[in-house]
Amino acid sequence: MKVIGLIGGMSWNSTSEYYRIINELVAEKLGGLHSARLIVYSLDFDEVRQAQRQAHWDDASAILSQAGIALKQAGADFLLIGTNTMHKVADAVRERVGLLLIDIIDVTANAIIKSGLGTVGLLGSRFVMEEPFYRGKLEKQFGIRVLIPEEEERAIVDRIIFDELCQGKIEASSRRDCVKIIAKLVGQGAQGIILGCTELPLLIQPGDVTVPLFDTTQLHAEAAVNLALAGP
Ligand code: GLU
Repeated sequence: MKVIGLIGGMSWNSTSEYYRIINELVAEKLGGLHSARLIVYSLDFDEVRQAQRQAHWDDASAILSQAGIALKQAGADFLLIGTNTMHKVADAVRERVGLLLIDIIDVTANAIIKSGLGTVGLLGSRFVMEEPFYRGKLEKQFGIRVLIPEEEERAIVDRIIFDELCQGKIEASSRRDCVKIIAKLVGQGAQGIILGCTELPLLIQPGDVTVPLFDTTQLHAEAAVNLALAGP
């Protein structure tokens, strides 16, 4: 089994989900007492958030790359960055560390294509919903039509992510807000919804909505386990 290197702590509330899901999947596939060979480098999210706020993406990339190099030296065979937002610097991190990195956007796009859906709604941080590295990549590279919430709704989702979910707060009123925003996207033609923030699955579950959800934490963890268990 290959060793998974997870750059996490963005926030730790989703990193603990990665840890659980990856181990559950390995146990499911191999049975008995099997568990994942997994190294986690959990960052201080406040440092990363400061860099995001100031648009100091080179600093953010350096923080993540340092963690990636430490994971490589500790024996990781490949890397995951356990957040959608920080995939803004994924290519730079991959290059600086010199290790295979499973891109969460690629994994999500492949799941959408496999499901046969052509139009999806996207919820995530402002960066994910608004910037070309995520939505643009899905559209240009994979031919998926992506609908995003209105400006005001994007502010609500972004606030829920950073002020609540990343701090471990799960609020019923925020679930209602997100469900309303999702229903509007569905009304505009979204056939599925990308939970494009690794904490969103803590708030929104399949039973809350009428269309398929693309849970990026689950999909990313599954891709890691498949690679870890594949071949020699
Ligand atoms: N975990 C969230 C994501 O998947 C947000 C945290 C971050 O800004 O990295 O985008």
